[in-house]
Amino acid sequence: MATPIHFVSNKLYPKLSRGRFSHWRTGFVIVTQLLFLLTPWVNWHGQQAVRFDFDSMRLYLFGLTLLPQDFIYLAAMLIISALGLFLWTMIAGRLWCGFSCPQTVYTEIMLWIERLFEGPPNARRKRDAAPWGADKLLRKGASQASMLLFSLWTGLTLVGYFSPMRQLVAGLPAGQTGFWEAFFALSYAGFTWLLAGHLREQVCKHMCPYARFQGVMFDRDTLIVAYDEQRGEPRGARRKDGSQAQGSCVDCGLCVQVCPAGIDIRQGLQYECIGCGVCIDACDEVMDKLAAPRGLIRLSTQNAMEQGAAPPSFWQRPRAVVYASLIGTTVLLMAAGLWQREPFRVEVLRDRAVMARETADGYIENAYTVRIFNTRPDARTYTLTAAGDGVVGQRLPKLLQVPGDGELSFTINVMADPAVLAKGSHPISIALQDRHTPEDKVTETSRILMP
Ligand code: SF4
Ligand code: SF4
Repeated sequence: MATPIHFVSNKLYPKLSRGRFSHWRTGFVIVTQLLFLLTPWVNWHGQQAVRFDFDSMRLYLFGLTLLPQDFIYLAAMLIISALGLFLWTMIAGRLWCGFSCPQTVYTEIMLWIERLFEGPPNARRKRDAAPWGADKLLRKGASQASMLLFSLWTGLTLVGYFSPMRQLVAGLPAGQTGFWEAFFALSYAGFTWLLAGHLREQVCKHMCPYARFQGVMFDRDTLIVAYDEQRGEPRGARRKDGSQAQGSCVDCGLCVQVCPAGIDIRQGLQYECIGCGVCIDACDEVMDKLAAPRGLIRLSTQNAMEQGAAPPSFWQRPRAVVYASLIGTTVLLMAAGLWQREPFRVEVLRDRAVMARETADGYIENAYTVRIFNTRPDARTYTLTAAGDGVVGQRLPKLLQVPGDGELSFTINVMADPAVLAKGSHPISIALQDRHTPEDKVTETSRILMP
C-alpha cells in the first residue's frame, strides 16, 4: 500500500548533531553553495565564464564557446554525468543524497535559518503547537522572510547562468529585469522555498525519482549506513549499577532524533535513508560517553555486516570497471575532439531556390549560402576557397570579417567546366582559413549540379 504523504502536520525537528559526518555535510553545503552562487560572477577574458545564451544558442565555458553544432560535447558531458552517478551510487550508495543533492543542501540551509530565528528543536515544536502571539509572529516572520530572501537570491543566481549576471543584478534597482528572467527567478525561488523550506524530507521520500531507482544500482557491496544488530540487540537502558544487560544499544533514541529523514536506522536498510551519516555521529557520541567502541551504527556494506566480509576491491567489481572504462573513454574522446576543434566553423548549403545556370563564358554556376561562426572573443578575417574536379572559379567576397563571438551569412557562386564534369552531381569542398593564423583551417563539403 502506498505511504500517505503528510506535509506540515508531520513536520520533523531534527536535533543538531556534531561529529565527522556533520562536519563533512557542513563543508559540502558551503562548498557547493559557494560554487553555485559565485560562478556566474566570474569573468573570463572579459565575458562571463559560464553562461548558456538561449538567444544565440551558445554555451560559454571558460573561454570555450560551444555552438549548436557542438551538441555532441554536451551529449558527452551528460553521458559522463549519468555514468558517474551510476558508478558513484554503486560504490558509495546514497552519499550524493546526503551530502551534495541540492534538495539536501537547501534543506540544511533552511534548517540553519530556522534554528537561528526559532531556536532548538524542542522550542520550535512547542512554538508551532502554541497559539499565535507576538513572539511566534516575530520569530516565524523573520525565519520565513530570511528563507524567502535566500530563495530569491538562489533563483536570481540560476537565471544568471543564462542571462548576464552583472547586468541582471545592475538592472534590479530600476526594475529593468526582463519578463522571462523575472518569471524563472521567481519560479525557482518559489520552488526552493516550498521544497526545501517546507516539504523537506517529503521530497526525498515521495517525489525524487533517484530515490526510487537507486535500488537497481546497489549491490551487496555498496556502502550503506547500517546498524550493527548483532552488537546492538537486544537493546535497552543500562542498569543502575552501570552494567549492560543487553546489547550495546542503550535505546537512547538519539539516532532517530537527529535523522533528517525521520527514520529509525535500527529497523534496517530503508529507502528513505539519504546516507547523511548524522546518526553515526550521534551514536558515536553515546558510545564515547559509555566508554564503548564506536561504530554501532557505521558506514559499511550488506556483505560486511552479515558475513564480516571485507568489501571487494574496485577491480573485483566488473560493473564498476565497465562504468569507469566507459567514463574514461568518453572523457578521452571528448578531450581529443575539443583539442582538435577549430575556434570557427563554416556551414555550406547549396541554394535550392536558385537553379544552376550557364555563365557568359560557358561555365556552369551554382549558388550556395555560407555561414561562418567565429567563437573567438575578437573579430577575425577569413578567406574562403572552393575546390573540386572541374571547379574553375568562384565569386566570393574577398575578405570576410566576422565580429568577435559572432557570425556572418552570405551567398557565393561556384563555377565548373562542363567539359570536365559530366551531367549530374559532383563533390566540391569549401575551405575557410583564418588570415592571421593560416594553419587554422576548416573544410566543408557540398555538391555542384551540372545540368
Ligand atoms: S538513518 Fe542516518 S544516515 Fe539515514 S537519513 Fe537518517 S540520519 Fe541520515
Ligand atoms: S544512538 Fe546508538 S545507542 Fe542510542 S538508540 Fe541509536 S543506536 Fe542505540
